[in-house]
Amino acid sequence: MKAIKETILIVEDDSQIRNFISYILEQEGFSCITSGTAQNAMTLLVSQNVDLVLLDMGLPDFDGMQVIKKLRQWSSIPIIVVSARDQEKEKVSALDAGADDYLTKPFSAMELKARVRVAIRHLNSVSKSVEKPILSVGDLSLDLEKHQVFLEGEPIHITGMEYKLLSLLFKNMGKVLTTQHIIKEIYGAGYGTDTQALRALMAGLRRKIEKIPAKPRYIKTEIGVGYRLSDE
Ligand code: CA
Repeated sequence: MKAIKETILIVEDDSQIRNFISYILEQEGFSCITSGTAQNAMTLLVSQNVDLVLLDMGLPDFDGMQVIKKLRQWSSIPIIVVSARDQEKEKVSALDAGADDYLTKPFSAMELKARVRVAIRHLNSVSKSVEKPILSVGDLSLDLEKHQVFLEGEPIHITGMEYKLLSLLFKNMGKVLTTQHIIKEIYGAGYGTDTQALRALMAGLRRKIEKIPAKPRYIKTEIGVGYRLSDE
């Protein structure tokens, strides 16, 4: 017997996309509930035990942004935003308002499963609140206790700021972080919106960890949004 995994709420007014998402996720063992409107989604969120929300930004009654803002007043459950192509600003505002990640339409079953897997993993690691001292992806690893970075098993020299940046990405492995979020975390809230320093820092870090810095394997650029440390 297959154990029922987490419950996922799918908020999407396009029934074809809604059915596609729930079909894929139910095959993965998740239990899915669906809603075609923001209003009904809010009702479900307070009445049901939901572990993750997949939220379409263009809904017939309210904007997806309003759902995120309302939900974040009382809940920290992961939200993956489903957004149309060429809506970088919308994605950034959704992430800044508290969404955890996004999917761009049209997306594949593989992308959907990957995003959900990352969100659920973060959910579980937060609820268990166990922090592993050594985090790794591919040939790159980071020792949180010794503040050291290893590439192919060899320690590499990185600056304090590069370490700050890399550990932030490692702690959010697989998740997209907006440029503004990274700047705030690394340089502090008073730093403003200047992205130049971060770009320089990122370039320096990539030269040390990426074989081909222009084609990064670890730190991916999410155009117009931010960066993501690959989790594969
Ligand atoms: Ca829609």
